[in-house]
Amino acid sequence: MKVTIDITRTKESKLPSIDFSNLPFGKVLSDHMFIADYKDNMWQNPRILPLDTLDIHPANMALHYGQSIFEGMKASINKEGVPMLFRPEKHVERINASARRMCMPELPEELFIEAVKSMVWLERGWIPKDEGSALYIRPFMFATDNFIGVAPSKTFTFMILTLPVGPYYPKPVRLLADEQYVRAAKGGTGEAKAAGNYAGSLLPARIAQEKGFDQVLWLDARYRKFVQEVGTMNIFFSIDGKLITPSCDGAILKGITRMSIIEIFRDKGIEVEERPITIDELFEAYDAGLLDEVFGSGTAAVVSHVSAISYKDRIMQFDQNKFNLSLMAKKEINQLRNGTIVDTRGWVVPVDNHVMV
Ligand SMILES: *Cc1c(COP(=O)(O)O)cnc(C)c1O
Repeated sequence: MKVTIDITRTKESKLPSIDFSNLPFGKVLSDHMFIADYKDNMWQNPRILPLDTLDIHPANMALHYGQSIFEGMKASINKEGVPMLFRPEKHVERINASARRMCMPELPEELFIEAVKSMVWLERGWIPKDEGSALYIRPFMFATDNFIGVAPSKTFTFMILTLPVGPYYPKPVRLLADEQYVRAAKGGTGEAKAAGNYAGSLLPARIAQEKGFDQVLWLDARYRKFVQEVGTMNIFFSIDGKLITPSCDGAILKGITRMSIIEIFRDKGIEVEERPITIDELFEAYDAGLLDEVFGSGTAAVVSHVSAISYKDRIMQFDQNKFNLSLMAKKEINQLRNGTIVDTRGWVVPVDNHVMV
């Protein structure tokens, strides 16, 4: 499929007014947006327009029934000044898995990749150059039928926004293992990057914050003891020299950073186990002095250190000075992205001299 994207450029770029040394995450958007419409059973009219508001009918089904999914990826600039994407084909695969689960149409891989590359190429001046900074890419799709009644929409919009984000130096996070609320159950929608999953996580996160924690460590819905993940990150534990991460059981979001870290460590000969792990096993390992490192993985920060986990009346605290596997993973992924080490796995995709009409 040959994708031709119609481009209308902005008359006046906002770029000169942007302070790249101060980029609050999520607030500064680039000049343009990508849009494609799904109607009559096909994707049509792919176009890039100056960033603007949308007209939404009050009966829009996404507002009422939540057919809305998204992705999160980053473009960074390598040493030669070329914008680079990280495993974009994995993001198409995942948005299409999310689409199937939410009864939404899949996107042809060519359309998704071409749309992402065109936006990145057009907005390449917006990619921050500082180490660790990037252009955050937010592809998303939502229902556009105007109908009051629970049913799948027949029309949809797929869009892409891009946002420059500053170097992300995440503070170590303090986690509260939640006994009351769950994020997702097997058979539910936890494996989809579906908007509603995040709405449901806001109240438990706020309660955790009121208790002095940063985020919730989710436990499984059935037994309330198997560790799942955190906010928008998967989680890793280093126990006695071995790396352990919860297996994808149908309720956990299959992070692309997670799968990349697993592969990087296995290639280095470090054992990684994907298996169910209970909060009790973590406390036992902690008490035996074997739980050395806990970190989250996700596109935004690559890895985030965990400094504490609280559960019932107990708390585990982790000494950041002992962390080394997490730093190794972060360094390798960042070096692959900026081209300082050779990408032998074909993960990094350049957006080079992209031909556009
Ligand atoms: C996006 C997300 C992740 C991380 O996925 P990456 O592909 O590594 O960015 C983990 N958990 C949840 C719930 C997420 O939404």
